[in-house]
Amino acid sequence: MAAPTESFRAVEAKGSVGHRGSSAVEVVLPSDPTVSAPLCPHGPTLLFVKVSQEKEERRRFYACSACRDRKDCNFFQWEDEKLSGARLAAREAHNQRCQPPLSRRQCVERYLKFIELPLTQRKFCQRCQQLLLPDDWGEHCEHPVMCDISITQLRRPSQLLYPLENKKTNAQYLFADRSCQFLVDLLSTLGFRRVLCVGTPRLHELIRLTASDDKKSNTKSLLLDIDFRYSQFYMEDSFCHYNMFNHHFFDGKAALEVCRAFLQEDKGEGVIMVTDPPFGGLIEPLAVTFRKLIAMWKEGQSQDDSQKELPIFWIFPYFFESRICQFFPSFCMLDYQVDYDNHALYKHGKTGRKQSPVRIFTNIPSNKIILPPEEGYRFCPLCQRYVSLENQHCDQCNSCTSKDGRKWNHCFLCKKCVKPSWIHCHICNHCAVPDHSCKGPKDGCFICGELDHKRSTCPNISTSKRANKAVRKQKQRKSNKMKMETTKRQSMNHTSVTRKKKKRERAHQYLCS
Ligand code: SAH
Ligand code: ZN
Ligand code: ZN
Ligand code: ZN
Ligand code: ZN
Repeated sequence: MAAPTESFRAVEAKGSVGHRGSSAVEVVLPSDPTVSAPLCPHGPTLLFVKVSQEKEERRRFYACSACRDRKDCNFFQWEDEKLSGARLAAREAHNQRCQPPLSRRQCVERYLKFIELPLTQRKFCQRCQQLLLPDDWGEHCEHPVMCDISITQLRRPSQLLYPLENKKTNAQYLFADRSCQFLVDLLSTLGFRRVLCVGTPRLHELIRLTASDDKKSNTKSLLLDIDFRYSQFYMEDSFCHYNMFNHHFFDGKAALEVCRAFLQEDKGEGVIMVTDPPFGGLIEPLAVTFRKLIAMWKEGQSQDDSQKELPIFWIFPYFFESRICQFFPSFCMLDYQVDYDNHALYKHGKTGRKQSPVRIFTNIPSNKIILPPEEGYRFCPLCQRYVSLENQHCDQCNSCTSKDGRKWNHCFLCKKCVKPSWIHCHICNHCAVPDHSCKGPKDGCFICGELDHKRSTCPNISTSKRANKAVRKQKQRKSNKMKMETTKRQSMNHTSVTRKKKKRERAHQYLCS
């Protein structure tokens, strides 16, 4: 896991994708740590480069690390752009204005007051997503307010708050109970006493609930999440407002030290990091962040432990396997299918048919991880790991080859196992879906050309869209054509309709292919 020594491109934009007028965007990871990126309200921005297929347009620009939609954060700056003092001051003021209204300390003080209130005075505003103290009631009297908030409810904030589902920023998809319980049991079986929850609020709360119900297991948990609403429910030592795409602690050094102390407690023994990032996010900045957390943990290790790795569970769709393993070669992918409550595609079907593509990537040896037989997993003695029931051992490949939980078939021409719906195509010289068009990577991802995922789940899509918009907007500023605006909006509406339709088709295809 050597740190990159020079700037490298995060996304390999494949020039051969062959769709007209489109372009991809790459993240450029900093080669020189002394050059600091400009700040947006979400901390240091990331450097991107637009790779246009027609022109040699490779001008680099900074944009928000956390929000993949300009509606959520419209920061844009060319790398070589010089800003006037006035603009810098305006930006600084804007960044300040965007910070949460209450400090972390103030949130804790409010919480302490709140739990002192009698049950009948404990109210929660559903519109503002806020616990109310008696002084606040007037302000929210027109809002839908929940009353009699019990201690049990306070301990399950992920059920009180509505999930922030906007795909391009929070993408908050909460674990279904059985997956969350599975994780908690697994962590305790593996003997972990501390869990660093990075973007896993529901896991965090279940660990804490379990610890308080069962005096024997005293597992501690620290949640790092960008969703500030959670700061109402936790003390400073169990929640930090955090951006995982740039390792930014919104509450500065004090919060960073909370995280450091947590990782280094007991000389770093007994701690694991569990993360479930938004799937639209870029792998590279995440990997950089996780390396920083690993380094923080390592500082607390004694010399003779230098071979040890920080145990990690990284929860992500299976089609990112090669990308994740590229950054973390010691990781393997477990066959366990992670289920979500509020995600139509990533949920077990009513029929019990498994269809979640989300898996756990980990550096813990897979023979140590028992997957529950009651959820349909079995142990493969040849592979020495637990696999889905339908994932059959292939003698040719000498492993249980299925990635999606269905039985895959071995193709002797491709010399590998392929999805059950695929057939070998003698024109393309490899296996593919039967009705593909034999013209290259069209049937794969529209953005990057990979065959194992669709455009809708491409790790590069959101950024490229955002960046295109960013660049377009910048150009627009220069030419002020009101008329064009109207026609454009009309055509945008049109595309958004077709896009919606396409999306539905893709979802259908996804579930049925
Ligand atoms: N399955 C998890 C939730 C995963 S959803 C559970 O049930 O606990 C993704 C989570 O990451 C959300 O909680 C979201 O608020 C958080 N998140 C999104 N972008 C983030 C960012 N840039 N930095 C930190 N957390 C982020
Ligand atoms: Zn931002
Ligand atoms: Zn309100
Ligand atoms: Zn095979
Ligand atoms: Zn084949």
